[in-house]
Formats: sequence, structure tokens, C-alpha cells
Amino acid sequence: MELNENARVDTGQVDDRRGSGGGGGMGIPIPGGGGRGGIVGLVIAVLVALVGGGFGLNAMNGGGAESGDNTSLTQKCSADDALKQLDCRNTLYVNSIQAYWRTALPERFGQQYQPSKTVFFSQGVNTGCGQADSGVGPFYCPADDLVYIDLTFYQTLADQLGAEGEFAQPYVLAHEYGHHVQDLLGTEAQMRRQQQRDPGSANALSVKLELQADCYAGAWAKNATGTADEQGQKIFKSITEQDIAQAIDTAEKIGDDAISKRANRPVNPEEFTHGSSEQRKQWFTKGYTTGDPKSCDTFGGSL
Ligand SMILES: [Zn+2]
Repeated sequence: MELNENARVDTGQVDDRRGSGGGGGMGIPIPGGGGRGGIVGLVIAVLVALVGGGFGLNAMNGGGAESGDNTSLTQKCSADDALKQLDCRNTLYVNSIQAYWRTALPERFGQQYQPSKTVFFSQGVNTGCGQADSGVGPFYCPADDLVYIDLTFYQTLADQLGAEGEFAQPYVLAHEYGHHVQDLLGTEAQMRRQQQRDPGSANALSVKLELQADCYAGAWAKNATGTADEQGQKIFKSITEQDIAQAIDTAEKIGDDAISKRANRPVNPEEFTHGSSEQRKQWFTKGYTTGDPKSCDTFGGSL
């Protein structure tokens, strides 16, 4: 993968809260956790299992919609060596993913895309879904329509799960924006209602939602080289087969079965909330090979 150094990094699409003290999570998951809070993450259940405790999210309070200060990030990301910086690169990935959906959502679903910012935080953060801790991994909060990520997660992904390739990063973000798209389309709300009606199928429904987000990430990956900044400069110079292989490798490594095995826990498909390695790989690949988010119909039939 090569990013275009002439592309402008639009830091208006992120909210940098790393300097704000983060809302007091202090990196320690809240024991017992206080419920699900409606957040939809990439690997939530499992990373918490790795970290060894509660859900890490307290949904009791409504959370605060504080804003960060993007001044230093904006400065950094307009410098010549911006693309050497992890946060600027990730901002550019967000720019590409949203540029894709701005076109794809009206084209394929007949609906306008509403942008969603990505919040960079460290350790802990207040969200519309409650207070969250880095231990839960990146997630999307439907209550405030924001994606949340502590960028140190990528190190965890590499160290604890063995997913090292850089293309894991845009894959993670594209998965979370997949949840935003599900929110815009009403898929997420519909699924929550179904879960309430039929609690016994809650996990199976969650798997469908997660696999669809993987598939949407694949559809973005296929179309990413066509995305451009506001001036029309291409964001990616190239995305290679190796990059796609890295995304697939990541999807595989964060499958529910793979994570259970790594944590020396029994593999129980009924407890899966995100899908098996095979399924995650398969649905990312489906989105990638078709390049069409309409093909991501995980709710339509058997997986
Ligand atoms: Zn997810």
C-alpha cells in the first residue's frame, strides 16, 4: 500500500481527545461492566477476555460529548512528513472510507451519507454509550454516531493477536464505519429490536451484523484506490494483493474461535458474537471480490 503524499489529510473528520485526559478510564476495565450499552466493536468481547475482566463499559450514564483540540494534529498532518505519522495516516484512512461511502451509499442504497467522526482517545473516554476503556478495542457508538479508537490498539493487535500488517489498520476503521452505515440504514436498530424479541438468537444476530461490517470493509478495500481528497487528489497510490492478504489475515486472527484458542478458552460457537475466523475471512473477501456492499446480505440467509 502506498498513500499519495499529495493528498490533503482532512483532520476535520477526526476528534483528537488524546490530550484531554480521556474521561478517566485509566486503562483499567470496570469490573462487572454494567451492560452492553449498544456499542459495536471489532473484537470487544474477546479483547476484554484477554485483558481478563469485565466489559469495560459502563452504560449507566449517558456519557459526555466533549470535544478534543485538533490544533496540534492539524499542524502535524499538514507537514511534509505527515504520512510518516500513525495518526495522520489513520486520519487519511478515515477520509478514504468516508469518501467511498459518500458515493456508494446513494449509488447502491439510494440514501445520503452522513459523515461520522473518529475519536482518537487514550486509555478511557466518555461516549454517548457510556464510559469506555481502551480494553474494549475500537468501537462504534450508535447513540452519538462516532467511531472510537485508541491507536495503541494496533500494537495489541500485533502483539497479542499476531496481526501485524499495516493494512489491518484501514480494515479496522472500515469495519467500524461499516457499523455507522448499518446505523444510517437502520440495520443496527432493526437487529437490536430482533434481539429483544428473541434473546435466544442475540448472539447469532450479532454475528450477522459483524460479518456484514467485515463485508462492507471489503467493499471499501476494493474501491479505495478510487477515493480522493476534497481537491480530487487520489488518497492511495496503490493497494496490493499483499495488503488484501493482510486484511484477510487480520479477519482470520480476530475470529471468535481464534481468540478463544489464543486465550486457552473452549471454543463454543453459541457464544460467538463476531463470527468464526472462516466466516470473517469469507465475508471480507465477499465484499472485496464483488466490490458491492449490496452483496453483503448476511441477514438474508445462512452464513
Ligand atoms: Zn464490529
